[in-house]
Amino acid sequence: NGSLHEVDPDVAAAVDSELKRQQSTLEMIASENFAPVAVLEAQGSVLTNKYAEGYPGRRYYGGCEYVDVVEDLARERIKALFGAEAANVQPHSGASANAAAMFAVLKPGDTILGLDLAHGGHLTHGMKINFSGKLYDVAAYHVDAESGRVDMAEVERLAKEHRPQLIIAGWSAYPRQLDFAEFRRIADEVGALLMVDMAHFAGLVAAGLHPNPVPFADIVTTTTHKTLGGPRGGVILSKQELAKKINSAVFPGQQGGPLEHVIAAKAVSFKVAASGEFKERQQRTLEGAKIIAERLLRPDAAEAGVSVLSGGTDVHLVLVDLRNSELDGQQAEDRLHAVGITVNRNAVPNDPRPPMVTSGLRIGSPALATRGFTADDFREVADIIAEVLKPGFDEARTAELAARVTALAEKHPLYPGL
Ligand code: PLP
Repeated sequence: NGSLHEVDPDVAAAVDSELKRQQSTLEMIASENFAPVAVLEAQGSVLTNKYAEGYPGRRYYGGCEYVDVVEDLARERIKALFGAEAANVQPHSGASANAAAMFAVLKPGDTILGLDLAHGGHLTHGMKINFSGKLYDVAAYHVDAESGRVDMAEVERLAKEHRPQLIIAGWSAYPRQLDFAEFRRIADEVGALLMVDMAHFAGLVAAGLHPNPVPFADIVTTTTHKTLGGPRGGVILSKQELAKKINSAVFPGQQGGPLEHVIAAKAVSFKVAASGEFKERQQRTLEGAKIIAERLLRPDAAEAGVSVLSGGTDVHLVLVDLRNSELDGQQAEDRLHAVGITVNRNAVPNDPRPPMVTSGLRIGSPALATRGFTADDFREVADIIAEVLKPGFDEARTAELAARVTALAEKHPLYPGL
């Protein structure tokens, strides 16, 4: 019964180092966030010990009276948060949620229509060697080369040509809002179901700062750890008429015992997401992303060959276009890392560079907004990023910029009690 440090100093040391890394650097990976201490506490609780196959009130194990309370809280809270008729909070991740949702409504060989991975879609929306590309026939829509926006005329044309059973609207790297009403219209026109994967923007929806897909879609999937700010995990929301199929696709279709400790942490994060403090944080998230986009659209950035896909952002991330820069995505990611800013390189549509190198960066504001960053702080970060991306960047300036990063990190302490 010793502590982690006593039982396993090696793992403890790595965990301590990761905490220090998170505290001392600026986390700008768009899919990451910092879960509140209450979420960490729930996830680290004794609920990890409990088997609970089945659903609240219908379990295949005894002793489920308390995990039933937790799972019911999670389901009711997320239904209320998004106005959904039914919720399954058991998927272990976003990918599992998508796999189960598709398993519920499709047969192998059915056709899906999703956003191309290279244009901002997710692996589970039909990538060739993902389950979605192997089990289903895939048609992929794209963003328009000029506007950088999803080409809805192409969506309609492909839907009529391929008659998919399921249309997927959602993205991992796209800086704009989707037109859910138009997706619904097209789905109805060809008799397809509509699934929206709101993994990235769910927190914005919860705060009322982004259109809610729930009224338009048959199924809405999400992760709980991105803008939503909870533990790593997935959720499936649906119309009541699909709830039974979805529940049995999750268990026993795809999973065994649910992770009730994670479900407890999800419940806590859904409570937080309904608060005024959460809404204020999502406002700063949006403001931060806009500030970064605007900074990287200024003339000095353009001279450096840096631009912003779609000319701005409506969400929590910015896609930096480096096709005209002497820096590639890998070099830009490495340079930012050297000053203490963590981002990920990202292919841009029709990227001339190979996928491991890329010509883009995906920069997100959620984790810094959670740390308490204000508009002024985001302006300072944006200036640092713009400096780092300039050609002929003098490596000797790394130390000075790293010191500015450290000052920002110290201004907004993360997990001070841990
Ligand atoms: N859906 C979208 C749109 C995503 O961006 C992601 C993660 O990046 C997922 C699903 C998968 O989530 P997870 O990594 O939890 O499996």
